[in-house]
Amino acid sequence: MPRTRYCIANWKMNFNLSDAEEFLAAWKNKDLNNPHIKTIFCPSFTELFAISELLGTSSSELGAQNVFYESRGAFTGEISCAMLKETGCQWVIVGHSERRTRLGDTDEMIHKKLHQIILEDLCPILCIGENIDERNSGQTATVLERQISIACKHINKEKLNTMLIAYEPVWAIGTGTTATSSMVGEAHYDIRNILRTNGINADGVSILYGGSVSVDNAESLSNISDVDGFLIGGASLDIEKFYSIYNKL
Ligand code: PEP
Repeated sequence: MPRTRYCIANWKMNFNLSDAEEFLAAWKNKDLNNPHIKTIFCPSFTELFAISELLGTSSSELGAQNVFYESRGAFTGEISCAMLKETGCQWVIVGHSERRTRLGDTDEMIHKKLHQIILEDLCPILCIGENIDERNSGQTATVLERQISIACKHINKEKLNTMLIAYEPVWAIGTGTTATSSMVGEAHYDIRNILRTNGINADGVSILYGGSVSVDNAESLSNISDVDGFLIGGASLDIEKFYSIYNKL
């Protein structure tokens, strides 16, 4: 069975509610006629309830950009899986490089978050990727191996079937520099092997690419074997660009 392909918008801390409403009102008029591609919107926490309602019965789904790894308690400023589920959210991004490098998420914290997401029946979008020094020193595969095996340790492997992986080289995010086809192909091939070695159903997991995906490069990236979709930051803020990328998947 072919793997589902994904077109995921990570709006980061960009859209306020009226921006998001305007985008989705126009999105509803787009012809999303490919049943093999799922679109997911990941707005800010404050917009989840409203966007869940706006998406209503549309085929697009709702994701959060982060979650905390405890189920409740004295954790000022954090949000739990149950709170996300209350909004109608099904997906959660975990391990985004901005959280790893700028907001203090460690491999161990990402593991705990992934564990909690699975435990509470949400679907994780696990982001992994090397920084430029790691790539230049030939450490890419080692970094991907470490990030996957720590994130997934002691988690029921069958439950990880709902997980998506987003390969996002840190140096390509928001920079306008995209990884070359051979870099992406090699990394996705390695990721599938690492999943297999960790006892995960590697052939069933969709692996997405993220890092300066644009209207111009989407088609060639989409044609790389083992690329099952995109996680998109900048270009997801413009409906025509996002829709054009969707159509190239
Ligand atoms: C991202 O934030 O996950 C991302 C890939 O951003 P951009 O598309 O802007 O590089």
